[in-house]
Amino acid sequence: MADSLRVRLVRALLCGVFFLAGVAGCGGSGEVAPYSDAEIEWLQSYGAWSGNLGRSSGVRRPYEELLAGRGDIGAYERAVQPWLQCSRSYRKRVGNPPGARLDRAAQLIEQACRAFERSVRLQIRSFKGEVNLVFDAEAAGARANRLVLQAEEDLGRLLGDARPLPLRAGPGRTSRIDRRYTKAVEARLSGQAEARCWSEDDWPVLRDAVIALNGGDDVDILGFASNSGNRANLHPEACRALDRLVYEGDRPHSGSARRTLAHGLLVLAHETEHLVAPASSEADTECYALQRMRDAAASLGIPPGYAEELTQAAWQELYPDNDPEYRTPDCRDAGPLDARPRTRVFP
Ligand SMILES: [Zn+2]
Repeated sequence: MADSLRVRLVRALLCGVFFLAGVAGCGGSGEVAPYSDAEIEWLQSYGAWSGNLGRSSGVRRPYEELLAGRGDIGAYERAVQPWLQCSRSYRKRVGNPPGARLDRAAQLIEQACRAFERSVRLQIRSFKGEVNLVFDAEAAGARANRLVLQAEEDLGRLLGDARPLPLRAGPGRTSRIDRRYTKAVEARLSGQAEARCWSEDDWPVLRDAVIALNGGDDVDILGFASNSGNRANLHPEACRALDRLVYEGDRPHSGSARRTLAHGLLVLAHETEHLVAPASSEADTECYALQRMRDAAASLGIPPGYAEELTQAAWQELYPDNDPEYRTPDCRDAGPLDARPRTRVFP
């Protein structure tokens, strides 16, 4: 297991740039064939392209300054260039998908591009004096975001993480929906959910597709959350750690053995927090996950004393080594992310 906690969710990468906050979506159910290598390659191009588009812009600031009446239309026009080139760059960098089952998503993305372009053109005209066009601009932007969400829901459905698995309560190496880990997720959500433990064979297939969809970053993910199905998907090593903790009663009190169990519990809590707040950043998600480890442990039947020990181990021995994206100075007692601000309990 990688020592730094890398967990991501499939996210509508184009969202949140103009008008709407992006919300993750992977849905559906049933058996689907895993993505082929050629499809993964296409997903990678798509993920890299949409990630670039999301990052390149810096649109929000000039946009907000214009709204506040002190902006510079030139700065805005420069910032939105990548969005005005959406269709062109999509065709150049992503292009037609291999095989028919990605066609619908591809068509939705091309429609989204046209809607983004229209939205930006109208927005520029509205800033230049045709004020009433602002409503059409916003409608086009909202439509574009909806189309992206639909496309990414399609891609998420094809991921295959919703496929039928046996429901079991017990340790194991084969893919399963774990009944007890599921209960812990459901307790936090106050609703239906699933914790899925994936086998060594199944996991890399899912992982490659998730990573591709996130832009092909070279990350070793330990889990991912599929929001529309409320699924917490877990790396085989994360489940192995949970199995030892929950089913085998393992209680190491120091060193890497204890860190491994703390890590397993933290991954479960982390993916659960993604389901609770899909739009939150990794750093915020991780901070709340640390503070929910005791609750997760209680749902799993772990004695409070040992839950406390694992929480402290995660905080002192894992958190400092987190990748920067998974850390924040706001994560501290009485800080902005303190879930119990009136107490000295932290994490
Ligand atoms: Zn995450």
